[in-house]
Amino acid sequence: MPSDTANAAALAALPLPEFNSLSQGQVRGIACIWDGAPLSTATAVDLGERKVRLVGTRISWFPRACRPCALKQAMDALLEHGQSCEQCTDDSSLCPVGTGLLRAIHEARR
Ligand SMILES: [Zn+2]
Ligand SMILES: [Zn+2]
Repeated sequence: MPSDTANAAALAALPLPEFNSLSQGQVRGIACIWDGAPLSTATAVDLGERKVRLVGTRISWFPRACRPCALKQAMDALLEHGQSCEQCTDDSSLCPVGTGLLRAIHEARR
């Protein structure tokens, strides 16, 4: 798998805020989904395709975030995961979730 795809998949695994709690700009991908900071193509991090259930239908959604938020979320997720994962305590390089989150951190730092 090309590393770009793997990185995008890692970011796609990050938990997002409730869709219904977001502003228009956040839904449209022009504002960071976590802190609402305005995004440009240069500063935005793509968080992959998400399926969102709206009244009776499902839509594809491509949320975006600013780098500081994506980095913080990925680090928080890794920290939280590491506390409850035996594989990561043992050898984190063998844990798909742990290595995925590490890739997400790497991607957000770029
Ligand atoms: Zn942000
Ligand atoms: Zn793990």
